[in-house]
Amino acid sequence: MNFSDRWLTCVDCGKEFLWDAGEQAWFSSNRLANQPKRCKKCRDQRRDRHLPHALPATQVNCDQCGAPTYVPFLPQGTKPIYCRMCLTAVRA
Ligand SMILES: [Zn+2]
Ligand SMILES: [Zn+2]
Repeated sequence: MNFSDRWLTCVDCGKEFLWDAGEQAWFSSNRLANQPKRCKKCRDQRRDRHLPHALPATQVNCDQCGAPTYVPFLPQGTKPIYCRMCLTAVRA
């Protein structure tokens, strides 16, 4: 079977995205009958939304520099919370 790049329209954002030949071959070899309905960006977003551990982020201030940062859990106040920058510095 020959595959060639095709442009499909994303059902979520309505933009065209490329369904390339390699991906079509992959779909075919995995016996997936339906062509993708969404662009990669929307697919990733949907996946993120369905992650079971996707908790609402809580805004806290970094214990080191005071910069606002987000954590995916409720801080208990027992451990210092660092922003991404300070975390890198602390772990280094
Ligand atoms: Zn899309
Ligand atoms: Zn910080």
